[in-house]
Amino acid sequence: MIFSVSKDKTKHNDSQVSKISIKRSVVYILIFSSTLSTPAQAQNYDIQSAIFNTVIGGIAGGIGAIINKKENEKCKKVFVKNFLIGAFGGAVMYGGKKTTSLIGVKHELGYAWLSRAIYNVGNSIVENAAANRKFGAIWHYDIGFIRLEYETQGKIFHTKVMPTSFSGMIYLAGTGKFDLKKSLQTGTPIFYTPIINHDTLIAAITSTNGLVFRSAFYNPYLYENIGHEIIHTYQFQDFSGFNTCLIPVSEKWKIRSPAYKKLSNWIYLDFNYEVMMFNYYILYGGNSGNKYYHNFLENEAQTLSSNKRL
Ligand SMILES: [Zn+2]
Repeated sequence: MIFSVSKDKTKHNDSQVSKISIKRSVVYILIFSSTLSTPAQAQNYDIQSAIFNTVIGGIAGGIGAIINKKENEKCKKVFVKNFLIGAFGGAVMYGGKKTTSLIGVKHELGYAWLSRAIYNVGNSIVENAAANRKFGAIWHYDIGFIRLEYETQGKIFHTKVMPTSFSGMIYLAGTGKFDLKKSLQTGTPIFYTPIINHDTLIAAITSTNGLVFRSAFYNPYLYENIGHEIIHTYQFQDFSGFNTCLIPVSEKWKIRSPAYKKLSNWIYLDFNYEVMMFNYYILYGGNSGNKYYHNFLENEAQTLSSNKRL
């Protein structure tokens, strides 16, 4: 089962992407995002989040690009270039997460669409760097278990199903009732139920790219909680750059199996969700007892969505 829990809380081609402009852009995004106001007690996690997203984007970009490099390319050059581009993408992802705070500030669920758009632009930049593709070669936007992809060179549009995310939606559908209105308002599948897993402490669960709420927490904590859970959906996507490590294997399978080649136009293997589970439960200790309040991913979700610590 794939979920994270919230508890009750009261240039467009390679040569044009210079190292300097990417470094500057990263700094501008971090400065712009930090102007969305953060009280001192939450600032520590805010800064950690900016660093975490930028570094993960850079590492995914650099390592992925080496795995996907062409034979005539040099490792060091490929790594450095795509590390910087990936770091830039990671900073944009941080900016997307931070934008969810507008949901609570403005009391308007529609800002979830904006934050997801910004996050997915950054995520697409990281994935292109990790695949050693041209900047902006593929843009994607994920809604629930559907990944909408646009290839700029061939002007090709793909609609792909993400299997792990789909399994998360099945869990949510089995746990609560679908809230069509809030799902449309946020661009995120949202379910609700009187009680989650017979546990009165659980306010909401994010399962891959959707979430289920305990009905009592729709009000008065609706905006703050939705922002928090939506950031969890992004956290599940944080490691998608590493999916590109499978590209060489996938390309071989396409040659061997015409059926797999056809299927790959409709399926996107989203192993990033499994990586997130490792990150949440193994690296950051999960959410049992007090571990919840010390889990970096919980603090990131809370700080960026509400400008407050857990
Ligand atoms: Zn949470």
